[in-house]
Amino acid sequence: MRRAQQITVLGATGSIGLSTLDVIARHPDRYQVFALTGFSRLAELLALCVRHTPRFAVVPEAAAARRLQEDLQAAGSATRVLVGEQGLCEVAAAPEVDAVMAAIVGAAGLRPTLAAVEAGKKILLANKEALVMSGALFMQAVGKSGSVLLPIDSEHNAIFQCMPADFARGLSQVGVRRILLTASGGPFRQTPLAELEHVSPEQACAHPNWSMGRKISVDSASMMNKGLELIEACWLFDAEPSQVEVVVHPQSVIHSLVDYVDGSVLAQLGNPDMRTPIANALAWPERIDSGVAPLDLFAIARLDFQAPDEQRFPCLRLARQAAEAGGSAPAMLNAANEVAVSAFLERRIRYPEIASIIDEVLSREPTVVVNELDAVFAADVQARFLAEQWLQRNGR
Ligand code: NAD
Ligand code: MG
Repeated sequence: MRRAQQITVLGATGSIGLSTLDVIARHPDRYQVFALTGFSRLAELLALCVRHTPRFAVVPEAAAARRLQEDLQAAGSATRVLVGEQGLCEVAAAPEVDAVMAAIVGAAGLRPTLAAVEAGKKILLANKEALVMSGALFMQAVGKSGSVLLPIDSEHNAIFQCMPADFARGLSQVGVRRILLTASGGPFRQTPLAELEHVSPEQACAHPNWSMGRKISVDSASMMNKGLELIEACWLFDAEPSQVEVVVHPQSVIHSLVDYVDGSVLAQLGNPDMRTPIANALAWPERIDSGVAPLDLFAIARLDFQAPDEQRFPCLRLARQAAEAGGSAPAMLNAANEVAVSAFLERRIRYPEIASIIDEVLSREPTVVVNELDAVFAADVQARFLAEQWLQRNGR
């Protein structure tokens, strides 16, 4: 019998983290939880530790760590609590670990995810912002360590499943013409443009097909999520931005497609439930049960497709521009977006101002080449500073 794989789940208390633990719990013979990390919902983290018995838990600061350690001891748990970014990097790179689910949201996930890459772990990548920020350096680190990088984003997991095994030789070498990245269009696909001024964070987070964390839900409403995914696809599959076409597909049943030069188009379909890509990546190249119900094509009955409307979704255009500019531009795009989305969720700005902030940050700061991680973080800090300036200047 083979040994169970040891899994670290970065961002265990989030939407992807919980779906990952659901799949892992279905296969106790194959997977054991090595470490779980959380940031704010620490009562949930305690319950997850009691249920999944990890060797380690990680929380952001010392006082929270002491409290969690006491609560764990009181519950009879042997889990040890570590602290901060250093703790995250330790559980990502520990020698016992086989695979790391990178499911922290935003730039905060970059260092721990890279620590796992550098340690040569199998990476289950949900944290798209890490790849968007530091794509070239991230992929270089993957090449150097021999880490296996498996996409969790449903679209990228679908593309991965539709690609030939040797796609790393280059898309034209393996006969791929285009990648077709599907997008649901989110909750505001048909909202009259004039009403977008007044939409609330609750409306933005009410995604028609997927249940997700708040940041990615707002990104889906603005289609910045698709913009980040365009950049993510370019790095994962060594594609030019012009080779990735966005297709609005409101049912979210086709998770993406690959168009080959002979006219064949391969697609991956499934119910919109992240446990499918998570199970696919966990077991790859094998297949395991994910708990997702079989797809009922008769109930779905029809699939629709539309071109994206850039007037409605200016963030998609801004992301494509950043993808084409390269260098520091994607890191700036991501950081400006993180500040703008937080401000929108805190009701400090209106929804259309998310795009205004990102547009201003990108147009005020020239793109520079990034050859090291410090340059990525410098671009991130500068974009956050410019976005905060916008907020102050506009009295928010
Ligand atoms: P979420 O908000 O539900 O969870 C985020 C997790 O990150 C939580 O565990 C939280 O504690 C942790 N976290 C937040 N800030 C942190 C910080 N500063 N330091 C350390 N940990 C921190 O988000 P989610 O929906 O699970 O998304 C996670 C990632 O996966 C994102 O990058 C998102 O784009 C990507 N993703 C999510 C989905 C989805 O269906 N939810 C689909 C595709 C990709
Ligand atoms: Mg996605």
